[in-house]
Amino acid sequence: MNEQYIVTWSEVYERIQKLGDAIKQHAKDKPVKVYGIPRGGSIVVGVLAAMVKDIIIVMDPKIADIIIDDIYDSGTTAKGYEKYKKQMIFLYDKRTEYNNTWVVFPWEGNPSVDVEDNVRRLLQFIGEDTSREGLLETPKRYVKFLTEFTNPPEFKCTAFDSEGMDEMIVQTDISFYSFCEHHLAPFFGEGYIAYIPNGKIIGLSKLARTLEFFSRRPQNQERITTQVAEYLQEKLDPIGVGVVLRARHMCMEMRGVEKPGVFTTTSKMIGQFKQDLNTKHEFLKLIRLNGK
Ligand code: ZN
Repeated sequence: MNEQYIVTWSEVYERIQKLGDAIKQHAKDKPVKVYGIPRGGSIVVGVLAAMVKDIIIVMDPKIADIIIDDIYDSGTTAKGYEKYKKQMIFLYDKRTEYNNTWVVFPWEGNPSVDVEDNVRRLLQFIGEDTSREGLLETPKRYVKFLTEFTNPPEFKCTAFDSEGMDEMIVQTDISFYSFCEHHLAPFFGEGYIAYIPNGKIIGLSKLARTLEFFSRRPQNQERITTQVAEYLQEKLDPIGVGVVLRARHMCMEMRGVEKPGVFTTTSKMIGQFKQDLNTKHEFLKLIRLNGK
């Protein structure tokens, strides 16, 4: 995570006072029209007008003398206002200070509280009364749920000597849960993973861990399949790897085409699983033994 600099209200007041003094001096005590870029800039000009005489807040950048924002960050926001050809002032300027730091203003609050508030707004947007009992703690729980889900337990993919074992190792019906990156709706199903060792094997639980690791984030099924296969190929350097995932997608079943019970199957074959049809068939036969 980025380094954070937490700005206090008193620091904000102090900077705005200095800014106001400079503006007044420059304007020779004539009224100055200021426009604040939403939303940080709006707060700055509000405080400025309260602290300094003859500051007039205008709602249209075209008629302003000065355009003000709370921070010059990446420059994207500022760029949108360049066309007005006005003097632009930033309370904080990352080109000259706090270069690689994440600056947090007092009105931005605690990041996780902000996120909870977004969940609350989302619920309100779909017409929910977020003050009803069942929903009171939901934003907090949802943020916790998402944070936990996307942070699966760390695992070490330790490899052991295969002691001459050179036959296919297959694990079937490994449950996995993910959510699609397009709709953030869950998709889940079973994974089938096989490899033929080339001197190195890993504990069977690690195959499930590998699948879990790549699933627990916004994903698409094809990518998980490829990532699991390539990860095992890289870690074990086996003669070949085969990965098949079979999943139900809630974004498809709960809305849209609404076809419940449809399975999507994806596969990734590497090495001998790709080149040798017999190996591929043996793998597919073994996983079909489960009666699916
Ligand atoms: Zn989707």
